[in-house]
Amino acid sequence: WDVQFFKISTYDWSSEEEEPDGRARPIQVLVVKDDHTFELDEAALSRILLAEEVHNREVVAISVAGAFRKGKSFLMDFMLRYMYSQASEEWLGEAEEPLTGFSWRGGSERETTGIQIWSEVFLVDKPDGRKVAVLLMDTQGTFDSQSTLRDSATVFALSTMISSMQVYNISQNVQEDDLQHLQLFTEYGRLAMEETFLKPFQSMIFLVRDWSFPYEFGYGQEGGMKFLEKRLKISENQHEELQNVRKHIHSCFTNISCFLMPHPGLKVATNPNFDGRLKEIDREFINNLQILVPWLLSPKNLDVKEINGSNITCRGLLEYFKAYIKIYQG
Ligand code: GDP
Ligand code: MG
Repeated sequence: WDVQFFKISTYDWSSEEEEPDGRARPIQVLVVKDDHTFELDEAALSRILLAEEVHNREVVAISVAGAFRKGKSFLMDFMLRYMYSQASEEWLGEAEEPLTGFSWRGGSERETTGIQIWSEVFLVDKPDGRKVAVLLMDTQGTFDSQSTLRDSATVFALSTMISSMQVYNISQNVQEDDLQHLQLFTEYGRLAMEETFLKPFQSMIFLVRDWSFPYEFGYGQEGGMKFLEKRLKISENQHEELQNVRKHIHSCFTNISCFLMPHPGLKVATNPNFDGRLKEIDREFINNLQILVPWLLSPKNLDVKEINGSNITCRGLLEYFKAYIKIYQG
C-alpha cells in the first residue's frame, strides 16, 4: 500500500455519562418507535459529522442494510478491523482475537429498526491525493408485518439516500421478495428527492450470505455479477410486475454489483459462545472476506457521496439527513 490511511477520533465520548470508558461504538442516530414515528438524534449525529477534523471533508458514506440476525454486525466488525489497520496486509488480525465493534455488546444488542453510525469517522487519503471522511452505517429493520415493512422501507430509503454505497445484506439467495423490498425502499426514496435526470442513487451491492451453489456461480464478485445479471434480466415473457421491479432497480442506481459469500461454518452460525475469532471460521469464508472487504473499502474504491451531481461534505450530509427525515415525519 502506498497510500496514507488515517483514523481519527471525532469526538471524546468519555465525557458522555452513557459511555464512561470512552470507547468508539455504534451510535443509534435514527430510531423507529413503537408508534411508527421516527426520531433522529440530531445532537449525536452533529457530534459525529461536525467534528473539527471532518466537517469540511467530502464524505464517503457506507451503509450495510438488511434484516436482523443475518450477519451484518459480524461483517461490519471486519470492516472496522480493515479501517483501523489502515488497510495493512495484516488487517484480518490474530487467529485467537475476539471480534469487537458493532457487535461488542454481544447478545444484549437490542433489535431496533433504525440506523446506527460508528462513532469514529475515518480520514483516508485516496491515491489521487484527496482526503475523504469515511462513515460506516448499520441499517436494519424487520419485515414481518405490514407496519414494520413500511417502517423498514422508510429507514432503508433514508440510508440509501444518504449513502454513497449501499450493501444489501441478504441470506442465501436473491429472492423475488428481496427485489420487491428493494423496489419499495427506492420508491420511497425517489418520492422524497427532487426530480433530476441523474440516477438518484450511487452504488448498490447485493451481498448474498451462505451462498450454496458455487458450482453454478462461483463465490466472489465475478460469480456474483453473472448470477445477478441472470436474476435481474428482463424478458418479454416475464410477468409485468417482475419486469417493472427490474426496470425500477436499474433506473435507480449508477452501479449495481453482487458478491456471493460462502457459509462461515457451523461454529459461527450456531455456537452461542462464539466470539468471532478467526480460528473458528471456515477457511473459504475467510478467503472471500479477504477479497470482499478491500473491494468495498480500499482507498481507491471509496466514492464520495454525490447529490444531484455535487460532492457532499460531512456538514452537507447532516443537512440532507435532517431535510429528508422531515419529509417522512410530515
Ligand atoms: P445482524 O443482526 O445482521 O447484525 O447479525 P449478527 O452479525 O449479529 O449475526 C447474527 C448471527 O449470525 C450470529 O450468531 C453470527 O455469528 C451469525 N453469522 C454471522 N455471519 C454469518 C453468515 O455469513 N452466515 C450465517 N449462517 N451466520 C452468520
Ligand atoms: Mg447487528
